[in-house]
Amino acid sequence: MTATGGCAHPVHLSGSTTTLDGTTGEILHHYDTRTEPCERLLVRCRNRRATICPACSRLHAGDTFHLVRAGLLGGKNVPATVRQRPRLFVTLTAPSFGPVHRSGEACRPRRDGGTCPHGRSLGCGAVHAPDSPVIGQPLCIDCYDYTGHVLWHAHASKLWDRFVIDVRRRLASSVGLVQSRFADHARLSFARVAEYQKRAAVHVHAVVRLDGPNEADDEPPAWATTELLAGAVRASARRVLVHTPYSAAVGELALRWGAQVDARPLRTNDDGPDDDAVAAYVAKYVTKGASETGAGTDYPLTTWDDIESAPVSEHVRNLMRACWRLGGLPEYEPLRLREWTHTLGYRGHILTKSRAYSTTYAALRAERAHHMGHVDAPDTITERHWRYVGSGHTPGAALIAVGVAEDIAANREIARGQREVPR
Ligand SMILES: [Zn+2]
Ligand SMILES: [Zn+2]
Ligand SMILES: [Zn+2]
Repeated sequence: MTATGGCAHPVHLSGSTTTLDGTTGEILHHYDTRTEPCERLLVRCRNRRATICPACSRLHAGDTFHLVRAGLLGGKNVPATVRQRPRLFVTLTAPSFGPVHRSGEACRPRRDGGTCPHGRSLGCGAVHAPDSPVIGQPLCIDCYDYTGHVLWHAHASKLWDRFVIDVRRRLASSVGLVQSRFADHARLSFARVAEYQKRAAVHVHAVVRLDGPNEADDEPPAWATTELLAGAVRASARRVLVHTPYSAAVGELALRWGAQVDARPLRTNDDGPDDDAVAAYVAKYVTKGASETGAGTDYPLTTWDDIESAPVSEHVRNLMRACWRLGGLPEYEPLRLREWTHTLGYRGHILTKSRAYSTTYAALRAERAHHMGHVDAPDTITERHWRYVGSGHTPGAALIAVGVAEDIAANREIARGQREVPR
């Protein structure tokens, strides 16, 4: 039972693994599910979402923590010298699509009053409690730019790619390099995570690091300073844009990052956010999807009725409706908006990293398997034949699984999930 570590939805596999000696062909080891109870093997579902599988999501958050941390401090085959390199913790936001209610002192005070074309007040003098459901909701749903919001989500990953390219170009030209030769001198590595804000717009947190051009232990050139990197990041975040495909209904929109850009140097000595805290902060977001912040659902929405019955706020439902309507326009077909209605058009991964940033999830899982004694010896051939035969627990086993998950959770120190970056 504990082989699946309290997983809520284990996957059932049937099949066999045979390990042969590479030279003689002798069978060294043979495993077949025919000898197992019910002739199947249960493996983890590996879902990253806390609402779907608490046990697997905790494991995934732990792996993310180690993955992000290794890129900051070294370890897991990443050299410890990465800590001395120019490193930033960057936050990029979505632009405004219309005023929304906010927490803090007074929401949106306006001395001169005034109303929008729909007769709604342009300001809000209330002081909302931090957990008030009104926070993030538009002052006027008829003025709010739902089309812009959804199309921005659909292009957010592309906007990030443009941003990275522009930072490289900017660094190259600031030290007099031909832009195409940047890769011969340095490399930009990053890990980024997407987070839904209260207004249901995605913003991005990223660790950005400047490396030498080749292997992970290759030092960056002398010109590569934290200040130069921070300047390039801020300038690129302000400047890059993506154009939407032309549509007779919408026109062509130029999409940019929001005005709020944060590029915080991660230093080795001073009082900036500590590396562990940054890794924990990023890891916290990978267990959350759109649904945990109320900005979407766990499951894809396949009909208009699904949208109407989704357990979301009217603001989020309007975003879903916009997604569905725009998704019906042929010019937006490549954006697959209907397929991604449940995430409000955002179809990027929650965590994305550049190849050289750090280790991989696969390597971390292999390391864990190694500790548990599953390892392929050198000079052997392993033949695997597996197929999916189902999922879930039998009713009795499901109850035990919940208990196992709670026990494991209680035994594991999860300080990492609960630490915040000082603001
Ligand atoms: Zn699971
Ligand atoms: Zn308000
Ligand atoms: Zn209005």
